[in-house]
Amino acid sequence: MKRHASTALIHHDYQPPSEFEAPQPPVCKASTVFFPNVAAMRERTWLDKSGYTYGLHGTPTSYTLEERLCALEGGRHAVLVPSGLAAIACVNMALLHAGDEVLIPDNAYGPSKTLAEGELDHWGIAHRYYDPMDVNDLADKIGPNTRLVWLEAAGSVTLEFPDLLAQVRTCRELGVLTALDNTWGAGLAFQPFDLLRSGDENAVGVDVSIHALTKYPSGGGDVLMGSVITRDPALHKRILLSHMRMGFGVGMNDVEAVLRSLPSMALRYHAADRGARHVAHWCAQQPHFAQVLHPSLADAPGHAHWQSLCCTPDQPHGAAAGLVSVVFEPHYTQDEIDAFCDSLQLFRIGYSWGGPVSLVMPYQLEEMREVWPEHIAQGTLVRLCIGLEDPRDLEADLAQALQVLPV
Ligand SMILES: *Cc1c(COP(=O)(O)O)cnc(C)c1O
Repeated sequence: MKRHASTALIHHDYQPPSEFEAPQPPVCKASTVFFPNVAAMRERTWLDKSGYTYGLHGTPTSYTLEERLCALEGGRHAVLVPSGLAAIACVNMALLHAGDEVLIPDNAYGPSKTLAEGELDHWGIAHRYYDPMDVNDLADKIGPNTRLVWLEAAGSVTLEFPDLLAQVRTCRELGVLTALDNTWGAGLAFQPFDLLRSGDENAVGVDVSIHALTKYPSGGGDVLMGSVITRDPALHKRILLSHMRMGFGVGMNDVEAVLRSLPSMALRYHAADRGARHVAHWCAQQPHFAQVLHPSLADAPGHAHWQSLCCTPDQPHGAAAGLVSVVFEPHYTQDEIDAFCDSLQLFRIGYSWGGPVSLVMPYQLEEMREVWPEHIAQGTLVRLCIGLEDPRDLEADLAQALQVLPV
């Protein structure tokens, strides 16, 4: 039967040959997925990745990225979500109910706290902040209603490194699930599911790892995405069902962008690490700064914890993300520090990190913490996110911008 043009353009006989192999996997985009017949539609399930039912629940493209992220972080199951923050929200929603309590480190990624103070509170889920540098404080705060403890290493902005192993062991002993915001470590600085590097069988690790793929996995400063990774199938299923019910889908062009960046991720991470250490050492010699925060510095808060987790026979000098924070001497005014930030030419003023361009952002620590941490010097804190520029040029940029300040 001859069909009309509008039909013939949709239902066409031509099928390209199926064998096609190239460095990048194809991009499979769909809301609708076809079933050959009703029986197949009834039978098919996306829960174990054995089939495709609807674009929201995955396509070959998203399954591929999920599996590669599992390999990166040492997990077994992953789901993708539209942002790093959505990954945090997804874990909270899957694992917490009204009447439960969640513990969050006081140096956590800010919007994670805001989420707890907003939606979680509205839904009857309580939260408390604990001192990330005091395992006893964490143990003391775990109560009968505590169901989940968030962990972060290193802490957002202040970059102090906790005793992650002791934190995980404490939570295990007290029967509470742990979720790590692994954006900083990114699967490259340490293995979140095997903190002892003992291999699968005797592994001691977190229950859940979330990753803002927006940072190093994307690497371009142009994609927002997050992942939630687990080893435990039962835990994964809770997260996956919750993810499905909330409709947290991702766009396959964005997934493609992350897949394209993943092969260079380790190179970029270690390059940013080298740049950040160069900048950190240089900053430590400048009289303008009361403190330089980078876990590789011997006097940085939690340096020994960083060393024991991130320095391995494989990487004896350890690995760290490209973040450095500096605390200005307290006599500098906010206006002076703003002028310093404005004077930078290579460092751009902007949120996020993990892309090619170095970034700078001043923070008001007194508004971010319950108490000013003892281990952080008094003064205004500025965070530098090191990109992929030559570190010598970044140093020169910082030097020229410091000249706007009175000594
Ligand atoms: C950026 C970031 C997030 C959130 O990622 P988005 O994709 O921007 O929502 C979460 N945690 C940490 C530590 C981050 O740096």
